[in-house]
Amino acid sequence: METKEFKAESKRLLEMMINSIYSQKEIFLRELISNASDAIDKIYYKALTDESLSFNKDSYFIKVAADKETRKLSIVDTGIGMTQEELENNLGTIAKSGSLAFKTENEAKDGHDIIGQFGVGFYSAFMVADTVTVLTKALGSETAFKWESKGADGYRIETCDKETVGTEIILKIKGNTEDEQYDEYLDEYKLKAIIKKYSDFIRYPIKMEVTES
Ligand code: ADP
Ligand code: MG
Repeated sequence: METKEFKAESKRLLEMMINSIYSQKEIFLRELISNASDAIDKIYYKALTDESLSFNKDSYFIKVAADKETRKLSIVDTGIGMTQEELENNLGTIAKSGSLAFKTENEAKDGHDIIGQFGVGFYSAFMVADTVTVLTKALGSETAFKWESKGADGYRIETCDKETVGTEIILKIKGNTEDEQYDEYLDEYKLKAIIKKYSDFIRYPIKMEVTES
């Protein structure tokens, strides 16, 4: 008897996942904010063991910015960022949770609780966006990278300009259709309500910036 591995069609799987794993589209923001918070926690963990890094809580924050005219919603964090390799591994492999691995490695080191674990949260952005762009610069790295994807067709990585360490996720929000409303994800009050509902427990300040058209 031979045990065989299942084959999976990753494009179909991604589409299915994006459209059915979450009951509500609005939770994409919870997922991206929790990733941002996890990334800031990772700098905190580093600072615990690396004396050359001082952890100043005030300089760590998450910023949500919406621009109605360009239909762009961005989630900026001052976390640990990603190297090119981490971008490939973490955003190029569906259901590989970097956070789960991190948790296992750092278990019981501290009371801090990294939120992510299923390795699919990031892709929930495609429920509301037709293009997702990630600009990131890792701690200790000179080079910043841009990851961009329109979903199931794959992604591109190239170098880009970014001054500060951390990550910016930019969502190009889908247009309204007969069945689905997406404009609300660019609306200040709706965004504030979603953040209040799901991300109230986040330890870092969540700032907000909205440009009206
Ligand atoms: P999970 O949070 O369960 O690990 P996600 O799909 O939400 O899964 O994210 C996958 C991985 O991508 C994370 O574990 C992390 O390594 C990386 N990542 C996502 N967002 C960020 C971010 N803002 N800063 C740094 N790394 C990130
Ligand atoms: Mg996550």
